[in-house]
Amino acid sequence: TIELIQVSKSFGKKNVLKAINIKVDAGQIFGLIGPSGSGKTTLVKIIVGMDQPSTGQVQVLNTQVPNLKLLQSIGYMAQADALYNDLTGQENLAFFASLYKLSKEVKKERIAYAANLVELTPHLSKKVLNYSGGMKRRLSLAIALIHDPQILILDEPTVGIDPELRKSIWAEIVRLKSEGKTILITTHVMDEAEKCDQLAMVRDGEIISNGSPATLKSHYNINSLEEVFLKAGGEKDENNRIS
Ligand code: ATP
Repeated sequence: TIELIQVSKSFGKKNVLKAINIKVDAGQIFGLIGPSGSGKTTLVKIIVGMDQPSTGQVQVLNTQVPNLKLLQSIGYMAQADALYNDLTGQENLAFFASLYKLSKEVKKERIAYAANLVELTPHLSKKVLNYSGGMKRRLSLAIALIHDPQILILDEPTVGIDPELRKSIWAEIVRLKSEGKTILITTHVMDEAEKCDQLAMVRDGEIISNGSPATLKSHYNINSLEEVFLKAGGEKDENNRIS
């Protein structure tokens, strides 16, 4: 469903991605893990068609990226929130919903569903400029889901979100998977990595380790994913997150 073939990206002389090959099958949760600056966001932007690879190919749903037709099928939650601060949460959702081919009733339903999922229903009439950072992340996630996309690309979706809601968001991600959706997610949280079907650890623009959590653990003969990534060359950052 998502396929990257020999994807490289340079900014000037800097090679940020080096011949990346990734295949994400339909109905999988695929996790990208790696330290800050390793190239995850660049990779994600290339998959959604917001950036172009220097060399290599990207296909989503057997369609070469970029392609306008794919916008209907992809939900993208960027690392930086792109919201209209001077509009309310409700107005933001309505605006993004209007970009898709949805009937009036479906639009209303989807807005209610997405707002409820991220527990923003009581805050929909507030302007986004009064939202906390976590609320903005939640609104961005709701927007990514608004058109019921087949493919979800989530760049660190749970940063700044408290543990309880993080759990319910993950329960929803797993439910979306059970509906056959394909989900690609970047994360620094090992508990979240455990829930992925496949993982790829990115370091300096290369995939240094990949496979299912169980495969990775048995490969290194270690029972903790955290230690696997430390052994594979990962580090703990200043917040004690593995990356
Ligand atoms: P994080 O976990 O902090 O989001 P990341 O793994 O997503 O990090 P990227 O944001 O993809 O990393 O950045 C990879 C490298 O590419 C960094 O060194 C960054 O400075 C560089 N980079 C990204 N975008 C550009 C750009 N437009 N111009 C020049 N360099 C860039």
